[in-house]
Amino acid sequence: MRKKKKFIIKKTPNPIWGLVLIFAVAFGFLLYYNAINKESLVIKYSEFLNLSEKNEIAKIHVQDQYVQGKLKSGKNFETYIIPSEKLWNNLKANNVEIKVSPLDSQSWGAYLLFSFLPLLLLLGFIFFRQSSAGGGGAGKIFSVGKSKAKYFSPNTVNVLFKDVAGVEEAKEDLKDIIEFLKNPKKFERLGAKVPKGVLLSGAPGTGKTLLAKAVAGEANCPFFSISGSDFVEVFVGVGAARVRDLFAQAKKSAPCIVFIDEIDAVGRQRGIGLGGGNDEREQTLNQLLSEMDGFTTEHGQIIVVAATNRPDVLDKALLRPGRFDRIVEVPYPDVNSREKILEVHVKKVKLNESVDLKKIARGTPGFTGADLENLINESALLASKAEKDSVDVECFEKARDKIVLGAERKSLALTEKDKLRTSYHESGHTLLNVLLPDTDTFHKVTIIPRGRTLGVSWSMPEGDKVSASKSELLSEIKVLLGGFLAEEIQFNEHATGVSNDIERATKIARLMVARYGMSDKLGSITYDDTKEHPYLGRDIQQSRQHSDHTAQKVDDEAERIIKTCYAQAEALLLENKDKLDLLANMLLEKEVLHSKEVYELLGLPPVKSHSLG
Ligand code: ADP
Ligand code: ZN
Ligand code: MG
Repeated sequence: MRKKKKFIIKKTPNPIWGLVLIFAVAFGFLLYYNAINKESLVIKYSEFLNLSEKNEIAKIHVQDQYVQGKLKSGKNFETYIIPSEKLWNNLKANNVEIKVSPLDSQSWGAYLLFSFLPLLLLLGFIFFRQSSAGGGGAGKIFSVGKSKAKYFSPNTVNVLFKDVAGVEEAKEDLKDIIEFLKNPKKFERLGAKVPKGVLLSGAPGTGKTLLAKAVAGEANCPFFSISGSDFVEVFVGVGAARVRDLFAQAKKSAPCIVFIDEIDAVGRQRGIGLGGGNDEREQTLNQLLSEMDGFTTEHGQIIVVAATNRPDVLDKALLRPGRFDRIVEVPYPDVNSREKILEVHVKKVKLNESVDLKKIARGTPGFTGADLENLINESALLASKAEKDSVDVECFEKARDKIVLGAERKSLALTEKDKLRTSYHESGHTLLNVLLPDTDTFHKVTIIPRGRTLGVSWSMPEGDKVSASKSELLSEIKVLLGGFLAEEIQFNEHATGVSNDIERATKIARLMVARYGMSDKLGSITYDDTKEHPYLGRDIQQSRQHSDHTAQKVDDEAERIIKTCYAQAEALLLENKDKLDLLANMLLEKEVLHSKEVYELLGLPPVKSHSLG
C-alpha cells in the first residue's frame, strides 16, 4: 500500500429517528391501555344478575349498556346489560356504588389515539423531513413555498476577510463586488456593467462558504443565505415557489447579497438524469434563471453569490453573461497560504513554542483549510489526552498520521508471517522510492496497521505539486510495483494486499498513453474517454470518441509501459537485494522508520525531511 490521499466523511442527522420515536410512543400507549384493562374478566349478563342477587358487587361504572365493575372480592369484571328497573333497585338495595357516564367518554385516550394515529404519523414524518432538510420546525409545514433562506441584517455577520487566510485573488475579486454594491454610481457613471452573479468554485473545504460569509461581513448590507438543497423538494413546483419567494424578499431589501451554497443541487445540467424529480429541479432552475435576468430594482442592486465544488455539472445557462458571469476560483492553499490558515486557527489552542508553523505548512501538501483546522483540532485533542500543558510537535505528527493514514489499529494482531511479508512489501516501495530519480520525497514507512491497510510507505512532493513529467510518472509506477516485486523476490508469491498498488500503476500508465500523450508509439493525441473531476480527483466516464481498434492500441501501449517498468524495477531490487533485506529486517524490528533512519541504514546522503519538528 502507498498512501497520498485522504477522505473525509460528513455525518447528517437521520429523519428515521423521528418516525421511530413516534412509533415507540404510540406503542407505549397501546401497551398501557391494554395493561389497565387486562385484568378484568368478561362475564355474561346472567352471571352479572347472579352476582347482583348474591350481593357480591362493590361498584359499577355504566356507559349505556356497557358495564365495568368491581366485586367485593376485589376482582374487576366487565359485561353488557339490559337496563331494567328491577336491576337498579336491587343494586341500590345492596348499596352498590354506581357511576354513570355518557357513551363516548369511555377510554377516550385509546379512542383518540386510534383516530389520530395516522394523522400523527403523517405530521411527524413531514416535521422531521422539514427539520432535517434545513433546521426548522413544525411551522414550516404550513409554508412549503416560502424560501428557507436565513436572513442576516447588516452588521450581524462577524466574519471578515481577515478571518479567511490565503486565497488573495479570490478576496480581491470579491472586494470589487462589495465596492459595486456600496457604490454603484461610481461604476455606472463610466458605463461599467455591474455584475449580477459570482460563482465561487473550489474543492470541498477550501473556504467557499467562509468567503461568502466574509463578503456579508464586509459589505454591511442585508444578506440572504440558502443552500441549493433547500430548494429541492418532492413536490413539483415547490422549489420554483421558493426561488420566487427568496427574490421577492431580496428585492425588498436591495441593495443586498443572496448567497446560494452548493448550487449544483439545483443548477445541474437540464435534461439529464432519470425520474420525475428531475422535472422539479428543472422548474426550480428555470425560475432561478428568470429571476436573475430581471432583478434590477429601483432600490438598488442584488448580487447573487453562489458556491459549488462541481462547476462541471452546472447548466451552461447559469454561466451566461448576466447570470454567474464571474467565476472566482478558490484553489487548494499553497504552502504560504497554509501557514496563514494555520496562524488563524492556532489562536484557539495553546501552542508549544517549539512548534514551527512553517514546517507544518510544508508537511501538509494537499491539505485544505478545513483539513488544517481539523489537524489543529486533532492535535489539541491528543495533547489534552496526554495531559500536556501545550500542543507540541509530537501531537501534530500524530494528528497528521491519523488524518492522512487513518487511525492505528493496535488491536489487530498480525501473525509473524504477515508481519514479515508486510515488511518486505513496504521495504520494496521504500527502497525504490529512495533509489529512483524524480520520486516524491520519502517521509516514513510503517508496518503498524492503520485503517484498512497493513502498512504504509509514505512520500510527499517537495513543494506543491501541480504537474508531473513523464519520468516522474514512470518512477511512480515503479515505486507502486515495488511492494509486489519485493514479495515475489523474497517469497516467490504475493498476497492480496498488492491489488490496489497494481490498479493505481495501471491507471497511471493508461493516463500517460490516453490523456497526456506520453506514449512514443501513439504520440500526442488524446484517446481519453474519461474526464477527471476538477476537484475530487475522480474520473467521470464519458461516451467513447474513438474506435475499438484505437482502444486496443491504448491497452497494448499501457501494458507495454507496465511491463517495462516492471522489468526495470525488478532489476533494481535484485541488484540491491542486500539493502532490501536490511531494510525489511529493521522495519520488522522497529515497525516505524523515518526517512533519516532509512537513509542512514542504506548509507545514502540524507535529504530534506518532511517531519514537522
Ligand atoms: P467549503 O465551503 O469550501 O467546503 P468552508 O468554507 O465550509 O469550505 O470551510 C470549512 C472550514 O475550514 C471553515 O469554517 C474554516 O474554519 C476552515 N477554512 C477553510 N478555508 C480557510 C481559510 N482560507 N482560512 C481560514 N479558515 C479556513
Ligand atoms: Zn503497497
Ligand atoms: Mg461550503
